[in-house]
Amino acid sequence: MRDNIVAGNWKMNNDLAETEELLGKLKLQMVKEPEAKVMVAPSFTNLYPTFQALKGTPVIVAAQNMHESEKGAYTGEISASMLKSIGVTTVIIGHSERRAYFNETNDILAKKVKTAIENEMTVIFCFGEELDDRKSDKHFDLVETQLKESLFQLPQSAWKYIILAYEPVWAIGTGETASPEQAQEMHKHVRALLNKNVGKEVAENTSILYGGSVKPNNAREIFAKEDVDGGLIGGASLNAVDFVEIVNSF
Ligand code: PEP
Repeated sequence: MRDNIVAGNWKMNNDLAETEELLGKLKLQMVKEPEAKVMVAPSFTNLYPTFQALKGTPVIVAAQNMHESEKGAYTGEISASMLKSIGVTTVIIGHSERRAYFNETNDILAKKVKTAIENEMTVIFCFGEELDDRKSDKHFDLVETQLKESLFQLPQSAWKYIILAYEPVWAIGTGETASPEQAQEMHKHVRALLNKNVGKEVAENTSILYGGSVKPNNAREIFAKEDVDGGLIGGASLNAVDFVEIVNSF
């Protein structure tokens, strides 16, 4: 049985006061036992207050990134143990914005995933093609390479820590969504790759989220697809009413 998951990526939005306001609204809107596992990923400075505010609720707090080294001279970076020390045990790795603006390669991401798993952290691993890759029909190969170079070396036992998030870059923050059929087609492809490269059980049990302009008006149709197990939500997660409506879209 796979978990249905809805995760909100708040990116570099909201100062402390704005975060507290959003958390207050979220707690008012959220039902006690949502149909899906719910996660939110605030900025580093807002992780601890968010974790404290959501204690006693089912909402899991995730970091948006972490460094691949355990500790040391990496000015400005945050380690897995720092996250764990404030109660955060889930981390987004490989978001397309980290790949594009911070030069995070498949190789660096493999190291980050390894470190997170050694620290028994859950990883939301993002991958997905650019518009040019899709136009030239290279999207399946591109995604295969991303997964192969960052994840397929992991032992079977590590996969209980992995949540996958397919995020076609051309659909992120653009208002353009992959159609439910396009999402399903890629998710099915990814599950087949898992089956071939890792094993049947992992293929069946790993949640694959879709991300890219998911909104209350399209979430239900996308989440209804057989191989789509929820969503990673950017823009719409900054609005408590919209986010909760998406959470309730199963
Ligand atoms: C994201 O950045 O992970 C994302 C899916 O953003 P949006 O929902 O705004 O497209």
